[in-house]
Amino acid sequence: MNVGFIGLGAMGLPMAMNVIKGGYDVYTMVHSNRSPGEQLQALGARLCSAPSEIAAQCEVIITVLPADRELDAVVLGENGLLESMRAGSVLIDMTTAKGSTLQALAKELEAREVRVIDAPVSGGTTAAASGQLTLILGGDQALIEAHKPLLETMGKKLFHCGEVGAGKTVKMVNQQIAAINVLAIGEAFALGKKAGADPQVIYQVLKESSGYTRMMDLRIPGFLAEDRFEPGFKLDLMKKDVNLAVEMAMELNTPLTLGSAASQIFAAASSSGLGEKDFAAAAAYLASTAGENLKF
Ligand code: NAD
Repeated sequence: MNVGFIGLGAMGLPMAMNVIKGGYDVYTMVHSNRSPGEQLQALGARLCSAPSEIAAQCEVIITVLPADRELDAVVLGENGLLESMRAGSVLIDMTTAKGSTLQALAKELEAREVRVIDAPVSGGTTAAASGQLTLILGGDQALIEAHKPLLETMGKKLFHCGEVGAGKTVKMVNQQIAAINVLAIGEAFALGKKAGADPQVIYQVLKESSGYTRMMDLRIPGFLAEDRFEPGFKLDLMKKDVNLAVEMAMELNTPLTLGSAASQIFAAASSSGLGEKDFAAAAAYLASTAGENLKF
């Protein structure tokens, strides 16, 4: 089967490599940086010049783009997917974006008899490389079932959350909790350190206590403990995710007290120059406002 793959970033490149390993013929394109496209080409992928050229040759197109704006551009923009996706083909969108954005695109695509699977992911770059992502799915159950072998090249834990857009909503809830947790670690560990506790001891004790969150294992070793912030998951992408939740709360006229505070802290960390660093840098930024870091 010919599979188009658009968005070869920290997540998309290893995911596309797993699709090739799964035996699919992959068609892709170069965007801002030639290297990921060339790495895929070396594995047998074909390089096209634009989304429309990919769409003309593929039964399924996978998109893993930064956010809503890029997703809209790839589908609706000049030389976009809409220009040449074939009737009966399928778009699997794995971007973390707003459910309403994908629902609007699905309406446009329906007119061309193109169906959509909503499939944001969780697990980060390590799980992307090992094909062990969690896939948070929305869309027609039978359509998802028919594409399970392809989806399973990228992730083994598949959850069907409802209609198109429902996957994005569940992913957004995850992101909000993840963002708040990492900030809570930065703030509380800094307070503990200021009062004289060793951050390594705090971590060991909390692993066996009620304040434990898996975010500690994900972002203390290799990041906060070493004061090193190579992404990983870029701070500006987490800022975008927190802001998606804030926007959605406004649309639903519902309060989002902690999410709004998190949004402000991510904005401050980003404008202080940390946007391209891993999102754990926001916790370090918050700790630095107390004059501390979490290094041990
Ligand atoms: P990234 O910034 O590393 O990659 C995005 C890629 O999209 C880049 O290669 C860029 O060149 C490409 N792109 C942008 N606009 C394009 C266009 N118009 N046409 C073609 N390509 C275009 O981002 P990432 O970390 O790979 O994240 C991708 C998505 O996955 C985001 O929505 C993110 O929130 C989500 N996500 C990331 C992680 C993570 O740990 N990095 C984990 C889960 C989910």
